[in-house]
Amino acid sequence: RWELDWLEHRARLTPSKNAIIDEETNKSWTFEELDKRASAIASWLYARGARKGERIALISPNDVCYFDLLFACGKIGAILVPLNWRLSRYELREILADCTPILIGIHHKFKALTPQLTNDTVSSFIVGEESYEEIASYPISNINEQISETDPLAMIYTGGTTGKPKGVVLSHQSIVWNAINTIVSWGLSMEDTTINYLPMFHTGGLNALSIPILMSGGTIVIGDTFNGPKAVESLERYQCTIVLLVPTMYHTLIQTKELEEASFPFMKVFLSGAAPCPLQIYEAFYKKRLAFKEGYGLTEAGPNNFYISPEDAKVKRGSVGKPMLFNSIKLLNSDGSETQANEVGEILIKGKHSFSFYWNQDQATQETVQDGWIYTGDLARRDEEGYFYIVGRKKDMIITGGENVYPLEIEHWLNAHPEINEAAVIGLPDEKWGEVVAAFISIKKPSSLEDQELKSYCESKFGRYKIPKQFIRLEELPKTHVGKIDKKQLKEIGSSMGR
Ligand code: ATP
Repeated sequence: RWELDWLEHRARLTPSKNAIIDEETNKSWTFEELDKRASAIASWLYARGARKGERIALISPNDVCYFDLLFACGKIGAILVPLNWRLSRYELREILADCTPILIGIHHKFKALTPQLTNDTVSSFIVGEESYEEIASYPISNINEQISETDPLAMIYTGGTTGKPKGVVLSHQSIVWNAINTIVSWGLSMEDTTINYLPMFHTGGLNALSIPILMSGGTIVIGDTFNGPKAVESLERYQCTIVLLVPTMYHTLIQTKELEEASFPFMKVFLSGAAPCPLQIYEAFYKKRLAFKEGYGLTEAGPNNFYISPEDAKVKRGSVGKPMLFNSIKLLNSDGSETQANEVGEILIKGKHSFSFYWNQDQATQETVQDGWIYTGDLARRDEEGYFYIVGRKKDMIITGGENVYPLEIEHWLNAHPEINEAAVIGLPDEKWGEVVAAFISIKKPSSLEDQELKSYCESKFGRYKIPKQFIRLEELPKTHVGKIDKKQLKEIGSSMGR
């Protein structure tokens, strides 16, 4: 069935077209080669005892092996579990104890981890070196497993922004429908080329753009380590037509001298996702007459859910657009009714791209999915014309003296201040007000921005109750492993400061 073996179909359609290029090694693989590698690796895994439903873990920097193993697992019915290599050994062992793989692929750069990640029940194989190429050319044999499109194909642990990472189980259907929906709604085609700098153990690097580009017959360049000047050069050299980066990367790019000279003649749109994007990043791109827009998503729902055209993104600054073609989205008030235009409510998502369940966490699954709707825990409003604006996470909403404050609104204004590098707003417990608004800022140098100046600036932008009672200056704001501002850590810093 095509949902299970779409890569085979793609390889038949465009066999000699480049599917993957690795920037670091300059190697490339056509669709035909990619599909053959997957069959060979599947046969090898099967010969090693991997069967339907079993987990194959992977710890690797961005590399072709992610695609190899994802498609190989698909042919067996096994579940690929890509691990975040930036986690500590202790955290990795916790995740391995949760997902209990039978095999773990370890990139040769992380060989030293082998004794700590393997034991009597988990054995390992090395990826990314010669011995792995032997696996990738293993004799192809018959695999006898009955697989359906609702069977799990991958398990991605969430970013852990709000708590411990949860194993999000994604079926073949979920991954395929996210790709179809993205291709159709965003207008991807075989003419598209992207460079991927996002970690492939995360939904942003794997599902958001990479798999849709592959399904449409486009090309993915696996980018070398991200740095501003090099990224500008590579985006031009590979004639990229679309790229997805997180706001912290855009923050670096807009401060990169080389960006001023670049014209990106092939680029259709620069896309930001995974976290709120400060409006000054939009401005910097628009000043250069480059198309820029923002997407919203989460591991559990695809991740992609909205579309906005670059033209609309310019007018509806900060909007993620309208729901994509094949999904349903609604906004709910706390009483369960649907919101009116411009009211803030929780985002609920339903569609074939939804995840199946959280691994080993039935209660969390039941709390998150009800009647097929994913309760995202994120807040948004929709304007009269149906455009959605993400307002922030429900958990991050601050209630101060009975008033609701959405940190993102304040962050947008603080980020727009010419002397502020980055800003994040959280609520800190307070006896009188319940919570008070606190702003963490990193200031551009040289600057001597005083609290009073900041308060007057805020007064000119929003209501008094939203003005931060505290401005806490940090050299740099802490980030999670996927580059989002780490509000958990900010809360700890805030609490340790005596509030
Ligand atoms: P965890 O679920 O473990 O706390 P996480 O929320 O970072 O980690 P992901 O699935 O990686 O897990 O990220 C999805 C979340 O990222 C969304 O629920 C939303 O809060 C946030 N997000 C994604 N895109 C945007 C955006 N454009 N604007 C604001 N927030 C966004």
